[in-house]
Formats: sequence, C-alpha cells, structure tokens
Amino acid sequence: MHKSGFVNIIGKPNVGKSTLMNKLIKQDLSIVTHKAQTTRHRIKGIVSTDEYQIVFSDTPGILKPAYKLHAKMMETIDHSFTDADLVILVVEVGEKKTDEEVLKKIKKLNVPLFLVINKIDLSDQEKLEMIYEFWKTALPSVTEIIPISALENFNMDVLLNKIVACLPEGPAYFAKDEMSDRNERFFVTEIIREKILLNYKKEIPYSTEVAITDFKDSKDIARIYATIYVLRESQKAIILGHKGEAIKRTGTQSRKKIEALLGKKVHLDLTIKISDNWREDENQLKRFGYGN
Ligand code: GDP
Ligand code: MG
Repeated sequence: MHKSGFVNIIGKPNVGKSTLMNKLIKQDLSIVTHKAQTTRHRIKGIVSTDEYQIVFSDTPGILKPAYKLHAKMMETIDHSFTDADLVILVVEVGEKKTDEEVLKKIKKLNVPLFLVINKIDLSDQEKLEMIYEFWKTALPSVTEIIPISALENFNMDVLLNKIVACLPEGPAYFAKDEMSDRNERFFVTEIIREKILLNYKKEIPYSTEVAITDFKDSKDIARIYATIYVLRESQKAIILGHKGEAIKRTGTQSRKKIEALLGKKVHLDLTIKISDNWREDENQLKRFGYGN
C-alpha cells in the first residue's frame, strides 16, 4: 500500500517553515535567513520512499499586505488551504496568537491540521506545557500538536511518521528522483536573494528582486548572467558598496553555493538595474514569477 499527498506548511514569518521543510526532505532547498519575508514564492519539496511520497509546500509567511507583491505572496497561502491533504501550521515557542483571518480559514478546513510548535530548544518544559495547553484550547479541532526543534532535528521523525499516517493511499505524483517543482534557474535566483538578505541591511533586501538574464550551461561550466533590480539609484550605490566590495562579496558567496548546487564551475555575472515600481507592477511581478 503506497501513500501519497500534499502537505502545506503555513505560519507567520520567521517561525521556521523553510527550515522545517528542508529538514523533512533532507535537502537545503528553501532559503533560510534570520529575516522575515525570506520566502517569497511557494516552493515544493518532495520526499519519496517505497512506501510514500510527500509533496511539501513551503509558503511565504502570513503578513498584512503592504504592496501588490505581498498580496501575491498571500494568494499562495489562500491556495494552500484548498489543495492540501494535510496542513501544518507552524508557530514558535512564545507565540500565543495567530491571524484572525487564518484562524477562520483553519476552522473551515476539512483535512487534518497539525500544529507544530517549533524552536523548543529555546524553551523549557514548564513554558512548553503552557503553550501546549494554550493551543489546544485555541484550536479544538487540531489533529495533532507536535513540539519540535527543526534546527536541532528534534522530534522530526515523530512528526514525519504522524504525517505519513494521515496521508491517503495513492500513487506517486512525481518521479522518485524529483526534489522540487522548481528548476535550476529558480534556485539560482533564490541563492542570490539569500546572499543579498545576508549582506544588506534594512529595506535593501525587500526592495530587491533577481532575474536570470542568460544561463549558458555546458559540461564543465555554467555561465550565468543575473540582474539585480532595485527601486532607486541610491539603492544601486548601496548594492555596489564602497569600491564595489559589497557586490563582489555577494557575488562570490552566491557563486560558491551555485557551484555546489550545479556540481560544476560557475561564472556569475551580476548587473544592477533600477526598476522604480517592480513591487506594484502587475507585469513585472508576473515576469518575476508571482501569481498563478
Ligand atoms: P520561515 O520564515 O518561517 O521560513 O523561517 P526560516 O526557516 O527562514 O527560519 C527563520 C529563523 O529561525 C532562521 O534564523 C532559522 O535558523 C531559525 N530557526 C528555525 N528553526 C529553529 C529552531 O528549531 N530553533 C531555533 N533556535 N531557531 C530556529
Ligand atoms: Mg521561509
């Protein structure tokens, strides 16, 4: 008997959704940083064995939309309520409320709901018991409440077993060796975004989008040309940095991780362009892969 199903991971920004998915599929697929809104797109991560196939969806964190970009990010969360066999709501220790809108949707769910309390490495037994009781009362319809530490891989096997137990019987949807529904180009732009999130402060990462302009792949080397879009001239200067040092560092860090991903040498060429309205412009957002 083979089981398979779609499991959607939702929750506020920074609670560890991407870390959780990466650990469950044992692959660093989704980018993780300490900053909110690291994940902008819905990313599928697939794990297959002889007994089951689970198709996880990592989603952007739930937030109040300030830009059309955010509205598009939130649409992906709406979808994740309707196309899942199981929904995992991730909260972190100390978190004691969740968005009203989300609660309403959760109450209408007709598939199992797991509440995962993450980052318990930062808590103690007494606090944990209080949080457990809080969520049990707040979400009476919850199927399971599972405390974990995604970072330290604690209780992840228990979580995985409980997920499998809830999945419907059925054939695999994806080939066994498929890890994701996204292609290499997508992961290359994600890696560059990750390094931008790590190298620049404040609004810079949130004003930035990355697109691949050319990808020339050969046996020994991939020549990748990417464009970093910013909103303003002043941000372009910050991205470049003093004597171009900041962009150089970002480029080197990105190239190393891309080389590991592709398993070959990479030539990475980064260009900076100004696009004053990309976060609000429907066509631009579409070009960057948002929506649908
Ligand atoms: P997301 O925004 O929900 O996808 O969160 P991320 O997976 O990007 O993680 C946000 C931050 O929380 C990162 O700095 C992670 O390293 C950290 N984090 C994730 N899981 C844990 C955990 O179990 N314990 C601790 N202490 N930190 C964690
Ligand atoms: Mg994330």
